[in-house]
Amino acid sequence: MLFSGYYVPTLKEDPAEAEVISHKLLLRAGMIRKLTSGMYTYLPLGLRAVNKVAKIVREEMDRAGALEVLMPMVQPADLWQETGRWEFYGKELLRFKDRHGRDYCLGPTHEEVVTDLIRGEVRSYKQLPLNLYQIQTKFRDEIRPRFGLMRGREFVMKDGYSFDANEDGANQSYARMYEAYVAIFSRIGLEFRPVEADTGSIGGSYSHEFMVLADTGEDTIAVCTQCDYAANLEKAEVTCVAGDACSACSQDMVEVATPGKHAVDEVAAFLGVDPQRILKTLLYDIDGESVAVLVRGDREVNECKLKTLLGGDVCQMASAKQVEEWTQAPVGFAGPVGLKVDKIYADFEVRTATDWIAGANKKDTHVMHVDIARDVKLTGYADLRQITDQDVCPRCGAPITLPKGIEVGHVFKLGTKYSESMNACYLDENGKEKPMIMGCYGIGVSRVVAAAIEQNHDEHGMMFPPSIAPFEVSLLALTGAKDDDLRAKAVELHDVLENMGVEVLLDDRKERPGIKFKDADLMGAPMQLVLGKKGLTNGIIEAKNRKTGEKMELPLEGFQQGFE
Ligand code: ATP
Ligand code: MG
Ligand code: MG
Ligand code: MG
Repeated sequence: MLFSGYYVPTLKEDPAEAEVISHKLLLRAGMIRKLTSGMYTYLPLGLRAVNKVAKIVREEMDRAGALEVLMPMVQPADLWQETGRWEFYGKELLRFKDRHGRDYCLGPTHEEVVTDLIRGEVRSYKQLPLNLYQIQTKFRDEIRPRFGLMRGREFVMKDGYSFDANEDGANQSYARMYEAYVAIFSRIGLEFRPVEADTGSIGGSYSHEFMVLADTGEDTIAVCTQCDYAANLEKAEVTCVAGDACSACSQDMVEVATPGKHAVDEVAAFLGVDPQRILKTLLYDIDGESVAVLVRGDREVNECKLKTLLGGDVCQMASAKQVEEWTQAPVGFAGPVGLKVDKIYADFEVRTATDWIAGANKKDTHVMHVDIARDVKLTGYADLRQITDQDVCPRCGAPITLPKGIEVGHVFKLGTKYSESMNACYLDENGKEKPMIMGCYGIGVSRVVAAAIEQNHDEHGMMFPPSIAPFEVSLLALTGAKDDDLRAKAVELHDVLENMGVEVLLDDRKERPGIKFKDADLMGAPMQLVLGKKGLTNGIIEAKNRKTGEKMELPLEGFQQGFE
């Protein structure tokens, strides 16, 4: 491919809206462009990377015996009403009506659609097991779309669904998908970790998430330093730090910390909801004895979860107005859910903590911030950063570490949740009707590209794993205005490489060498080949490994052998 005829609108500066490195680099390297919040166009270079991920996913799914289908993205509401998710799924489900006034949604996932398909087709145990998957655009009206491809509203997902006649079969299907996921992420070349996960709104019996380890990850995972225990914070089986028993419910208690900007994540973990659903948390000192934790987000979820978790005695739900009365400070936003932790249950010391005010929003500083990191104890709310210090691990007692992770894949054993509610049954050997046992398996295909960049970059740009690099080789022709020989030689090398099946982008633009080097580093092809005037004279081309920086010279004569 010749750069001069390609479309790669690179940017010199970091775009202001991009917070994380993958987002910045994807924009800068001309791989994606934003249409509107959470929706991106994949430009040629970006699409190549996404397609490469999809290809690996496809190959491993096929190898594992899954069959590719393509289901409609628009889904009728009545299916979602059958499973109850029309009500339950919340605002992430984008709903609309057709011209006849019938309700529809854009598919965020396809359990209903695939179950509807199978219940109409499969009648006998002889037709099972069955495993169907698709690679498709999904839509989720995320409350805080951000970080480019990491959390879009429209994104590419591989979603797969297994149907089995019995538990053994279902467990085997799950294991096969789990192994396929290990193969996929290994082949891509990511540093990843399967972790135990919460089953969340999909429901079901058990599940694992595949986490790419990266500081910008939105999930925190608890990883044991000794045994193979690893779990999402939402699910981590944390028992006890302080060792005290809660007088209200006699469950073990854990220490709590909700300082500064971490408050959103931690309160989200406490509530067991996606941090995306929480716009803001604030701590308010009430009277030196109690603290109000304000959670602004999905009111129903928070209120109901808080009540269940803490019980009416421990906390008092409050309106914004009420909290303003408690704190004698303007709350500054509408509709928060307040939680008042009483001294009896939360024996804490209220202190002003200027250090974390520094990290907080200006807007927040009109309230008195309290550092309750030390002493507050609440049942069921774990700040795992504290636990590291305390040498606790949930399984074997060894210390746990708490890396951040990006969820790139998720496998669920669903059981009969959907087959029962949607009546997807088969007849067993004895002619008895039974619900199928299901599993579902997702991979964030477009998110994988972002995750790979989060894990593989330097100050100059991306360093793609060869498996998903848009091009394997950047060939730079350092031509002056009239270097026709050099240009001709570069094109010849380009053709040789293409004939060898190497994906090469020849930078044949009339640009200065500095610009070509910069763009090649930015775009992150694993190998750079540089042909300059001197090299041409001496019969030499320089090869550079983008990741290690290692350089070597290859003779132009017999270049093909040298390259191999
Ligand atoms: P998250 O916790 O990040 O919101 P999820 O648990 O809601 O993800 P799943 O329902 O498990 O997502 O979907 C399967 C996969 O789809 C996820 O593992 C993730 O890789 C990807 N994915 C989910 N939401 C998004 C999104 N908004 N943008 C890009 N990829 C996503
Ligand atoms: Mg989600
Ligand atoms: Mg998740
Ligand atoms: Mg998930």
